[in-house]
Amino acid sequence: MDLALDRGGNVRTDAGRRPLAARLHHKGLALTTRLAVEPILGTPFLSLADEREQWVLQNESEREAWRAEALDRIVRYAVRCVPAYAGLEPRLDHFPVVDKQTMIDRPDEFLSTRRDEHRVVWKHTGGSTGDPWNYPLDRRAWAEGYATQIYRFREFGVEYGDPKLLLGFPTSLGLNHKSRIRRLRFAVERTDVSLASIEVDGTRSLERAVQACDRHVRMWYGYASTIASMAAAVLDAARTLSGPPLIVTMAEPLWPAWHRDIVDAFGSTVVEEYGANDGGIMAHRCEAGNLHLADHQSLVEVLDDEDRACPPGQPGAIVVTNFHARHMPFIRYRVGDIGIEGTLNCDCGRAGRTLTAVTGRSGDFVLLPDGTQLVPATFFLPFNQVEGVRRWQIVQPDPRSLVVRVEPRASFNADEKKTILSWVRQRSKDQLDVRLSDDEPFELTSGGKHRIVIRHF
Ligand SMILES: [Zn+2]
Repeated sequence: MDLALDRGGNVRTDAGRRPLAARLHHKGLALTTRLAVEPILGTPFLSLADEREQWVLQNESEREAWRAEALDRIVRYAVRCVPAYAGLEPRLDHFPVVDKQTMIDRPDEFLSTRRDEHRVVWKHTGGSTGDPWNYPLDRRAWAEGYATQIYRFREFGVEYGDPKLLLGFPTSLGLNHKSRIRRLRFAVERTDVSLASIEVDGTRSLERAVQACDRHVRMWYGYASTIASMAAAVLDAARTLSGPPLIVTMAEPLWPAWHRDIVDAFGSTVVEEYGANDGGIMAHRCEAGNLHLADHQSLVEVLDDEDRACPPGQPGAIVVTNFHARHMPFIRYRVGDIGIEGTLNCDCGRAGRTLTAVTGRSGDFVLLPDGTQLVPATFFLPFNQVEGVRRWQIVQPDPRSLVVRVEPRASFNADEKKTILSWVRQRSKDQLDVRLSDDEPFELTSGGKHRIVIRHF
């Protein structure tokens, strides 16, 4: 991630200097949370955050041994207690890959026969992709995910209980169900919500940016496209605003052009989060460009069409096994995203497994007349290189044609247009009639997510 710079280009140094009142607030909040909130909720999320912060510092072999044991425990549990897995050999590679639809269709087979022993929270997913699902997640599994956020945000100078602003569409922020407990937690944690609608036009985005900056919180957490639109509006209006020390984007890939705009507009440290609640994945992108997975939460595999491990660099289906979900275990669960596995030894020095990219939803691909499927990653290169494109989308309206939609900056020129078109034509093996348009509106999912490859047939 980038260093936070102030308007004069100096590195911000406010992370370590807190007023006494703020330090006392944090101490008090931590104590109250441990003594009262955690026992009431039955989820030791803050204690777990401290524990996991230490866990990641262990050496590779200690962590791997811990993970192997956790994996062995969950597969043995599943064979013993989950009807769908009865009789299987307790080895992960003997388990079938399952997806959301399988679990929706046969719920009883995936629930544990000993589910009464595990307290759950009910989670909701998929509303934004038009495929909603309410599912039970062990409180312990939920706590692992929340703990990951707490200790990762801490790394960027944001403590548990620092004022936060959530920005985006309610579904992806998990706010579609009003819950008293959540409202209480938000009040205790000083989290504010500023909901965006799907429309991200310039005027509204600028208003939203001004209002968000006026709150003077320490962190924004929200949709990548919402915050990118706010940034674009600020830059277009040549306004000078001071953003929070940390901005974490979620729900959508953070494209390099969006990242640049957000840093330029708000001067904040910007971190991309990738997460899948169903299954239990949490990852944050480091300054070396890799998404660091929370290894204590789950095992993530990247698999090809025949459910074999993809070779490095090849995009495949992201499949997760949660170490902590018992009520309804998630084992080799296909989350529906396509990703590329990264290296174990990241240049940033952080330990553990990584993804280099999450490139879109499965099913998002261009289909050539010869049957070749082109996943979104095929098209990244020119868009990451040219300066003049703010956002883009590739649409295949019919089997023979392709439209490249771009939102240009003032600097977009003929050379850049040529670079993009020749790359897309070449990747499409000249089998499609390709045109570029800079004035068509983008298509979003029903939850307001920006998709980069859309096929209409
Ligand atoms: Zn790294």
